[in-house]
Amino acid sequence: MRMNVAADMAVELLLGQEAKKYTETLRLWELEGRILAEDIRAAISVPPFDRSPYDGYALMAADTAGASREAPAVLKITEEIPAGHAPTILLTPGHAAKILTGAPIPEGCDATIKYEDTEFTDTEVRIFAPQEAGSNVVRAGEDIKAGEVILTAGTLVSAAALGILAGQGISEATVYKKPRIAVISTGSELAEAGKPLKPAQIYNSNVYTLSAYLRAMGAEPVNGGIVPDDPDAISARISEALETSDMIITTGGASVGDYDWAYRVSEMMGAEILFWKADFKPGGAMCAAVLNGKLILCLSGNPGAAVIGLLRVGMPYVRKLCGHRTVMHERLNVIMKDSFGKKSPRLRLVRGRLEIKDGVAYFVHSDGQGNGVISSLMGCDLLAEIPAGTGRVQDGQILSAIRVPSN
Ligand code: AMP
Ligand code: MG
Repeated sequence: MRMNVAADMAVELLLGQEAKKYTETLRLWELEGRILAEDIRAAISVPPFDRSPYDGYALMAADTAGASREAPAVLKITEEIPAGHAPTILLTPGHAAKILTGAPIPEGCDATIKYEDTEFTDTEVRIFAPQEAGSNVVRAGEDIKAGEVILTAGTLVSAAALGILAGQGISEATVYKKPRIAVISTGSELAEAGKPLKPAQIYNSNVYTLSAYLRAMGAEPVNGGIVPDDPDAISARISEALETSDMIITTGGASVGDYDWAYRVSEMMGAEILFWKADFKPGGAMCAAVLNGKLILCLSGNPGAAVIGLLRVGMPYVRKLCGHRTVMHERLNVIMKDSFGKKSPRLRLVRGRLEIKDGVAYFVHSDGQGNGVISSLMGCDLLAEIPAGTGRVQDGQILSAIRVPSN
């Protein structure tokens, strides 16, 4: 069994595991924020026909050659083409059609001109300058060409993707089902919110925090309840959860104390242990195991550490399970806004936020970086990494940071 693996190795060990995915077909209205499980090819061009971008006149550019204020081109109006109407008259030289924004350009025309640039009556339009062929014409396929792949599997359905699908007349698409991830809170001291606290108890906060982060990654968290520090009770709860979930997350008991069961329970259940403990702080006290092809990720009970463990090690695998095309953390280099006093004998993840000043990315670290602290996750959108063996970090120093959901 691997112990004390590097953070990146822990991520790789999880990503090496199978991530079984299921699909469902949803209506357009329900697709936002979901991940496509199919490539989508354009059946039609958008726009489907050459159209006018203005209210004006459709004409043959050649008819306006040499036109000027003194000697305008005078064209006879054949018909009016409002949006939603197809032209009915083939244009011949010396003629123009009145056309409105979004209407198809009649055959034979190669330019349009805005009303404002003409003088007109019901029967005639005067044009005072030569028009170039192709001017003021929105070509069929300007946005999307029929036949091209417009969206690929693994794409998050965003505002633009919804518009692209709707523009194709597509009313439903196949997406990955959100993986169900059970979050089991272990600890004999835990009480559920809404109940009175007995002496020596604390409220279970982890399940709520972790579930919100899981949702932000695209998963469907399931509350696996509270279980006391009893290996039999814990393994029974994990077994139950394995029946109905795609992945299990536990909190508490992942370290080396007398009541720290995570490693022992995983072994007792016959799970393959991927690693125990990752080499970073806070949150490195964790264990990852696989049973029945499903990942069991045992995180620290400390609320701050549990979140960092999930974000640094668990997130890429959760994203893979959700079907995201890109699963690795997004990284950026940031400049420390203030100095950070603590030494970092091992890799340290610091909670903080991105601040952009004069176009430069700064990192503002939160107050309270302890294992048990969750208030420093308020507004946190970056975890900056201080490499192992670093002393005090001065302001102005550059660190690499990973982007994390800031919900
Ligand atoms: P453990 O990882 O079990 O050693 O727990 C570390 C610290 O986190 C202890 O102070 C626990 O009381 C606390 N803790 C454990 N589980 C939770 C939870 N679900 N919510 C809030 N705090 C917890
Ligand atoms: Mg405990």
